[in-house]
Amino acid sequence: MKNYLKHDEWQIIEEGFDPHYNKISESVFSIGNGRMGQRANFEEDYSGDTLRGSYVAGVYYPDKTRVGWWKNGYPEYFAKVLNAPNWIGIHISVDNQRLDLAKCKVEDFRRVLDMRTGLLSRQFVATFPDGKKVWVESKRFCSMAHGEIGAIRYSITPLNFTSKVTFSIYADADVVNKDANYDEKFWEEVHKEASEGRAIVTAQTKKTFFHVTTGIHYHIETNGAKAALDRINVEKREKYAGNVVQTTLEEGKETVIYKYAAILSSENHPKAQMAENCHKVLDEAIEKGFDTLFAEHAKVWEHKWEECDITIEGDVAAQQGIRFNIFQLTQTYTGEDERLNIGPKGFTGEKYGGSTYWDTEAYCLPFYMGTAEPTVARNLLVYRYKHLPKAIENAQKLGFTGGAALYPMVTMNGEECHNEWEITFEEIHRNGAIAYAIFDYIRYTGDEEYLAEYGLEVLIAISRFWTQRVNWSSHKNRYVILGVTGPNEYENNVNNNWYTNTIAVWTLKYTQQAIDYVSGKHSARFKEIVAKTSFNQEEEVSKWRDIVEKMYYPEDTNRGLFLQQDGFLDKELLRVSDLRPEDRPINQKWSWDRILRSCFIKQADVLQGLYFFEDQYDVETIRKNFDFYEPMTVHESSLSPCVHVILASRLGYKQKAYEFYLRTARLDLDDYNNDTEDGCHITSMAGTWLSVTKGFGGMRVRDGKLSFDPFLPEQWKSYSFRLEFRGRVIKVKVSKDKTETILESGEPMEIFLKGELLTLKPVSSGA
Ligand code: BGC
Repeated sequence: MKNYLKHDEWQIIEEGFDPHYNKISESVFSIGNGRMGQRANFEEDYSGDTLRGSYVAGVYYPDKTRVGWWKNGYPEYFAKVLNAPNWIGIHISVDNQRLDLAKCKVEDFRRVLDMRTGLLSRQFVATFPDGKKVWVESKRFCSMAHGEIGAIRYSITPLNFTSKVTFSIYADADVVNKDANYDEKFWEEVHKEASEGRAIVTAQTKKTFFHVTTGIHYHIETNGAKAALDRINVEKREKYAGNVVQTTLEEGKETVIYKYAAILSSENHPKAQMAENCHKVLDEAIEKGFDTLFAEHAKVWEHKWEECDITIEGDVAAQQGIRFNIFQLTQTYTGEDERLNIGPKGFTGEKYGGSTYWDTEAYCLPFYMGTAEPTVARNLLVYRYKHLPKAIENAQKLGFTGGAALYPMVTMNGEECHNEWEITFEEIHRNGAIAYAIFDYIRYTGDEEYLAEYGLEVLIAISRFWTQRVNWSSHKNRYVILGVTGPNEYENNVNNNWYTNTIAVWTLKYTQQAIDYVSGKHSARFKEIVAKTSFNQEEEVSKWRDIVEKMYYPEDTNRGLFLQQDGFLDKELLRVSDLRPEDRPINQKWSWDRILRSCFIKQADVLQGLYFFEDQYDVETIRKNFDFYEPMTVHESSLSPCVHVILASRLGYKQKAYEFYLRTARLDLDDYNNDTEDGCHITSMAGTWLSVTKGFGGMRVRDGKLSFDPFLPEQWKSYSFRLEFRGRVIKVKVSKDKTETILESGEPMEIFLKGELLTLKPVSSGA
């Protein structure tokens, strides 16, 4: 665990430059706007340890899978989010010495991410090897108001000299991915141009042929007026275009480079017009200028915070932690484009290939439902709807027929693109999460029509998959599901994972309800769906009913336990507290063989099911299972603690709930797992939000109404959160002796507070 970032309610602050922390900070201080993202790499050179990362949403490369022994059904490739062309770079040379923080002495370094406005700033004094000192201040943002614009204000002031300086201001597509199976470069040049003040490079990805056009435009000022430039040379080389500018830095006088970038993707522009459109976006950016662009960007953030802020009084570290999570989630996915989704690392690193996992449905969806208008969450569902043909193909490749769909565990475009057997093939539970998300979305938003428009087709296809994936065991006289991996990836190829069997049956039941709704309320559309999917309602539904009735669930009825899988009780049942500190984390210390045989659980599995379907179980059942499984859970997935916060809160285990919360809330700020340098844990950040709202706040939706059963962690004075709910924004504030529920906007509404029905009116009401 690291503790080098200052605690502050709205800002992330690093003081002093320690190169050991640089890659961690590059992740933590990342900025983005849903369309693009940028690690906190330096504008000037840095020859020290760094992970350069610019990312453009939806642009990926299908890197051919590497495996020892190819088996039928392996995905052809593992998709990689691409390190996209560099738009931030400025080389600076004074008397032939490069400004390079790995080679200069660095003092008074301060890097700040202002989460309120989405502004990254940095300042420092650098001393060149010959003793010349400069004071540098840089600011940059990726505009939330104009998704294709990034802007930089880079100021440099010589402290003890007057001398010539050379600035090289550029766009560079000659970049590499750290994660590349065959060490190839993924970009090829399509077009480049450069004139005085402006440069544009269009590069395309190999194989996928995405075009990304990166245009930059700059101007330079000295002490507030246009700088006198001695020389401007246009510079072009392969995949690179820019200007080399020479001017004089005068002691004590500030020279400022304003650099604007326009980053366009062929996902949004016809390829033939990309350069032309890039000029237009650059023209718009310079016409507005840095301050206006920033004001517009900050305004969007102001509005976002009005919808989604969580406040915590009495604990600055916790306050900073939760805001950081909300900030990252909000700048990762804005919900305007149904082709986009949320990679586990968002725009902060390459790990997990930037692809979509079940994390979106199981963890992220509630955050976006609760903090933005319903279209944002809806687009996450539509994304999967659009991938349905591929999910059907994916199932066909594995031998399923008749419109059965198996959604991928990992995907960019609907195709499976993960290359680990036990996960790709066996974690079929993700299909259930995709069905559950439809239910969860409708339960929250009330948008039942979604079923008619999109949802039912997906549910039928998933139900068809379960129908074919179960088999009848004449030995057990029950349906069974064999050879799966549950959410706990520390057991593979197990039989009858309780969670998977449960969510399969739940899907079959929910699909029947969805059919009743659509056939009743949208009969014409229902006929269309029946025809489109060749749905044989009578036969298929009767098979579903049979499975629902005769599914097998592994249980220990004496102890009231649901068993994670058939063989779970044959294991040596130890507790995490029995492990020696040097054995942890077991995924780094133990052989896979040992992990698989052990009882240790990576993340919520049976408990994931009890969280999703808590209405079906009484509190004592939840308690028995929690008390049994939690002590065996090593929480080596960042998705684990939040489910435990929610269940522990429900069970009244307040202290435990708070302890789990601490593991999620500052995971990246404190580099808890020693891996933040690869990128931030974006999808688990949604878990932190869930921990506050559904955990401490006890938020649920019951009968179309919001319901709260909050408690205050002892360590806090109060906390509050806001929710978007069916056209209203409501604020819930929990303090020591009262809970306030305030309708901030929208029509009066009824809610449950600790079981009591209240009507919220536009003015505050207390309880
Ligand atoms: C977890 C999965 C998750 C993936 C991506 C893994 O460590 O076990 O449940 O989908 O990370 O976040």
